[in-house]
Amino acid sequence: MNRIAVIGGGITGLTAAYRLVGQGHEVVLYEGGERVGGVIQTIQRDGFLAECGPNTLLETSPKITGLIKDLDLEKRRFDPNPDSDARYILRNGEPTQMASSPPGFFTGKLFSWKAKLALLREPFIKRSSPELEESLAEFVKRRLGQEFLDYAINPFVAGIYAGDPHQLSVKEGFPKLWALEQEYGSMIKGQIQGARERKKTGTVSKDRAPKLSFDDGLQVLTDRLGEVIGDRVRLNAAVTGLERVGEKKVSVQAGDEVETFDAVLLAMPAFRLAELSFPGGEKSLSGLSEIIYPPVASVVLGFKRADVKHSLAGFGTLNPEVEGMQTLGTIFSSSLFPGRAPGDCVTLTSYVGGMRSPELARKAPEEIIELTVQDLRSIYGVTGDPVFEQVFVYPRAIPQYVVGYGRFRKMMSQCEEDHPGVFLAGHCRDGISLGDSIVSGHDVAERIGTFLD
Ligand SMILES: Cc1cc2nc3c(=O)[nH]c(=O)nc-3n(C[C@H](O)[C@H](O)[C@H](O)COP(=O)(O)OP(=O)(O)OC[C@H]3O[C@@H](n4cnc5c(N)ncnc54)[C@H](O)[C@@H]3O)c2cc1C
Repeated sequence: MNRIAVIGGGITGLTAAYRLVGQGHEVVLYEGGERVGGVIQTIQRDGFLAECGPNTLLETSPKITGLIKDLDLEKRRFDPNPDSDARYILRNGEPTQMASSPPGFFTGKLFSWKAKLALLREPFIKRSSPELEESLAEFVKRRLGQEFLDYAINPFVAGIYAGDPHQLSVKEGFPKLWALEQEYGSMIKGQIQGARERKKTGTVSKDRAPKLSFDDGLQVLTDRLGEVIGDRVRLNAAVTGLERVGEKKVSVQAGDEVETFDAVLLAMPAFRLAELSFPGGEKSLSGLSEIIYPPVASVVLGFKRADVKHSLAGFGTLNPEVEGMQTLGTIFSSSLFPGRAPGDCVTLTSYVGGMRSPELARKAPEEIIELTVQDLRSIYGVTGDPVFEQVFVYPRAIPQYVVGYGRFRKMMSQCEEDHPGVFLAGHCRDGISLGDSIVSGHDVAERIGTFLD
């Protein structure tokens, strides 16, 4: 039986460890913190349910569906309220509904006629050279114009990456979008063609994928994985270095303990990978310390329903930078997942900081709450004070796949080549969403299985 060390007990490491146990290997999962789950954390208090990290899982791959099924969590799956599909973008201070269909885009109020015409022109814009690495902002301005950048892309990347479109790379951060232009010469033509291809592979695009959570929040998934992996999990076991043992084995050091394995998976954030010492004492991944992880505060506030003027019918609102708000956007959590607030209350989850305004996420929690409430009063007509408050700050939240990020991916591939038996996976390599991390954990377990065979 092969022994494998999985380092990092976030969703990537947990998924990989679970799959490796399923393949019949002996696994030890090292987690530096006192709980598994990584950035996923759900808090329940006073009748409210607050997600500190991710709020929803997008079911983009059969590997995600398979994990839920294999863990026997189908019964606990919690699909969003079907009436909560509406998404809003703040325009002139008002939440303005986004179109859910092409005809709706042309009749909707969110974009001017100039922007609508730009969309019709998009299929005729020339593709860029594949050698040129553009920022997302450059790409969108070239194909669709400034208004799309300001009112679609800027808020969209704030919602996903807490990022800045002028810094994010279209090729590294949005590879599917980049490939649409390269393969089909147009995002619109590519969308139509891509839908046919996705049907064949069983995958779903992120904008169409079903969203989900679990009855007691997303932590149900990581708790269940932790439970099944059981006493193979070692908590408060931060790994500091690896050493080669003979030709084929690798030893892992955590505190004073050293153990030897046939393969090691590193499923940690980039800034921790950078600190790790590799065989020979080298810090092979020290270059990854340059990856930017801006701070993000998630601010979950409960209000009396009667104190909120807006209907809150929908998923939530994204705030474009040009609108000058302090928050990046707000999810209508109790509309999306009914039952997550007492009957006469609502829950609003807002995000503060990111690349747009990192200094705001570094303020004291009371100040973060205050600035969030100011935005909520102005946008949704909130009058009373919060009856529930939960602020959770991630000092280093989400890696930014900026222009030039390819060199970090090369460092990770090179590390695997230089150290056979060492594997890397997770949000700094394979995509930043929760779903990406599950797929990453699943795929790396298969790669490890093949290597050991
Ligand atoms: C605020 C926020 C909101 C988000 N919202 C969404 C959303 O709504 N939908 C979505 O799809 N995605 C969302 N994401 C992204 C998604 O949650 C993450 O990409 C994903 O959970 C990352 O999982 P991971 O296992 O790769 O990393 P992590 O969760 O960071 O786990 C890494 C683990 O490694 C451990 N570790 C670190 N160093 C060591 C060491 N030396 N030894 C042992 N263990 C170590 C850490 O303690 C941690 O537990 C959000 C992220 C954040 C921060």
